Amino acid sequence: MNAYDIAVIGTGPAGAMAAYTAAAANKRVLLIEKEQLPRYKTCGGGLVFRGKSRLPFSIEATIEKECREIEVYFEGSKRYFSARREEPIISMVMRDSFDSLLVTKAREKGAELLEQCTLQGLTQEENGVLLQTSMGEIKATYVIAADGALSPTAKLAGWEESRKLIPALEYEVTVNPEDFERLSRTTRFDVDAVPYGYAWCFPKKNHLSLGVCSLKKQKINLKEYYQAYLKKLQINELLSASAHGFQIPIAPRTTGFSKGRVFLAGDAAGFADPLTAEGISNALYSGELAAKALIESGESSVAAGQTYQALLEERLLSELKTSSLMAWIFYAQPSMRNLLIQKYGQRGCELLTDLFMGKKAFPDNLKQRLREKIPLLRFS
Ligand SMILES: Cc1cc2nc3c(=O)[nH]c(=O)nc-3n(C[C@H](O)[C@H](O)[C@H](O)COP(=O)(O)OP(=O)(O)OC[C@H]3O[C@@H](n4cnc5c(N)ncnc54)[C@H](O)[C@@H]3O)c2cc1C
Repeated sequence: MNAYDIAVIGTGPAGAMAAYTAAAANKRVLLIEKEQLPRYKTCGGGLVFRGKSRLPFSIEATIEKECREIEVYFEGSKRYFSARREEPIISMVMRDSFDSLLVTKAREKGAELLEQCTLQGLTQEENGVLLQTSMGEIKATYVIAADGALSPTAKLAGWEESRKLIPALEYEVTVNPEDFERLSRTTRFDVDAVPYGYAWCFPKKNHLSLGVCSLKKQKINLKEYYQAYLKKLQINELLSASAHGFQIPIAPRTTGFSKGRVFLAGDAAGFADPLTAEGISNALYSGELAAKALIESGESSVAAGQTYQALLEERLLSELKTSSLMAWIFYAQPSMRNLLIQKYGQRGCELLTDLFMGKKAFPDNLKQRLREKIPLLRFS
């Protein structure tokens, strides 16, 4: 039976980055992926500068379009805000080629890849984990579960569901050249185009990625809101459209991110941003942190679990907490939000952009600062 230091389940950004980091430190790494690469992944494909700039290699070859301007519209209001930066705020990628490039980089560092191989079971043993896969048994000292929002690995390892999963619908559409020219100049977000959510228009090389998501767990017919969004964008004719729906976990697990020798990263852990549902950059970051924790801690799974928790607490977990509060104000308290927007709308848009750029930290003590500005404010 083949034995590895680390088996990584899933070749999305979390898994590929974990494999890259561990293999670069001379660990024996196996990447297990149930699909054949390159595989389509439902995603708007907007990689914010904060995530892109941390990558240790260039991804230029997979970038469909660089967006240096974002626009934020509010439903029912003629006002909109926009922000520009010299460097690209959002780099647009298609996830099949982007994820494949990350896997190639991990393989160049020595990681092995098993494609079309599904993890079906796992048994934690004293010194490692025995994996049952569609291609037979594999032994590894540690497992990094980077298998996305559904994360079968987390279920197999005994995690109960505690993340908040929200629905999102995405369409890859081609439109006529005039509409494409008009809509591909900026990246556009339309807040409240969906109750408790937003719609987006992301330009790719030759097509648009349009989507709708609700940041609240609710029964909702997203297709209707998508149809309304097409009208809002004044797209009267679609030359082609393919629809893809999936879930995004926008609240981290409440029961920890490691169990014995199994570690969770990316969507499996619930690390997408609660305000924007942007998940690629935190997937990349948490994959890297999980690998670092295992590299630093050697054979001791207890030390590895503690190290991973400490690394996550350095930045990521507190950012998610602040972002969750921002999301609550933004989507669940529209009258308060509208007041804030009237007064600080452009500043808010600049702050969002700086957060995307990684040029500003998430605000500290947000609750307290808001209470000072709005004394009547009550938090749930
Ligand atoms: C509609 C939509 C739009 C989005 N738009 C954006 C966006 O524009 N920007 C952004 O930053 N984020 C966006 N996100 C979120 C982003 O897609 C995720 O947060 C990100 O992909 C998480 O990466 P990951 O590596 O954790 O998991 P994933 O990218 O989901 O990768 C998981 C991998 O695991 C594999 N796998 C699953 N089960 C098994 C198994 N049993 N055995 C082996 N392999 C398995 C899967 O095939 C997959 O390749 C969007 C999400 C949705 C649903």
